Amino acid sequence: MTAPRNEQLKAMPDDWRRALAVVAHPDDLEYGCAAAVAGWTDGGREVAYLLATRGEAGIDSLEPSACGPLREREQRASAAVVGVSTVEFLDHRDGVVEYGVPLRRDIAAAIRRHRPELVITLNHRDTWGGVAWNTPDHVAVGRATLDAAADAGNRWIFPELTERGLEPWNGVRWVAVAGSAQPTHAVDATAGLERAVRSLLRHRTYIEALTDEDPETYARSFLTAQTEAAGERFGGTPAVAFELFGR
Ligand SMILES: [Zn+2]
Repeated sequence: MTAPRNEQLKAMPDDWRRALAVVAHPDDLEYGCAAAVAGWTDGGREVAYLLATRGEAGIDSLEPSACGPLREREQRASAAVVGVSTVEFLDHRDGVVEYGVPLRRDIAAAIRRHRPELVITLNHRDTWGGVAWNTPDHVAVGRATLDAAADAGNRWIFPELTERGLEPWNGVRWVAVAGSAQPTHAVDATAGLERAVRSLLRHRTYIEALTDEDPETYARSFLTAQTEAAGERFGGTPAVAFELFGR
């Protein structure tokens, strides 16, 4: 699956109707792939967001009890900017999300409810391209999402879900990993980039705690650099890159 670093990325499949994006924290999708999401919802596709935590441990100066609800509000506003109205939270604890059967079960349940053809997640590997160490929450949620895409289709793995009326869904055709150092596919980010900037900007409290830079300048330069870098392997078109696992 892995394309050599200089090889052009393939266009992401577009013959699907529903996607479910599963990540650990508020802002993971806005840093990772909101420009692609904007393009997809423009085209009439449904995208829902599922977050393992409310990101309540993400801001040093804010107690988790105040931070969680604030970040949930910012996440819902971010999602709305790119045409996503369904945002759900699993309420695992921020910073200490554990990879394991309970997390796989929670994600498989959501996949059975939403019945997506495409599942999206964020870099599940130990590092960001060998440069920076990844967080344990991203690793846990990314891996559990890759696993749950298969779990959701197996009647016998989580029979308690079937008893709750969640019938198996074996219709996930791909899991796309954003932020991968080994991307294989990409989506044109041109139409969605401006909304992706505004979507990231909705995490204003988080960004203001993170950097002294003007939030809009920060968001625009981050996403422009990211999409231009992917574009170098996508015919020069600004793009969001994914590592695509077919099923
Ligand atoms: Zn995160």
